[in-house]
Amino acid sequence: MPVPKRKRSRTRRDKRFANKGIIPQTFAHCPSCSKPCVPHVVCQFCGHYKGVQVVKVRVKKAEAGPKDAILASVKK
Ligand SMILES: [Zn+2]
Repeated sequence: MPVPKRKRSRTRRDKRFANKGIIPQTFAHCPSCSKPCVPHVVCQFCGHYKGVQVVKVRVKKAEAGPKDAILASVKK
């Protein structure tokens, strides 16, 4: 009967269960801006929850794309 040559170290044995507790996070798409967001939580991109604006969201200048910069310059 085949027998393992050496005892598996604690570290090597425990590595098998290292990822057991990791649960992939579920996400849904926001109905107003259709970006991926956590369900049952206010959308971090547009501040909507159940179709109602709950939180005002500021857009940082670094995050705003070149299209927003053009729009801002036209408005002035
Ligand atoms: Zn949204």
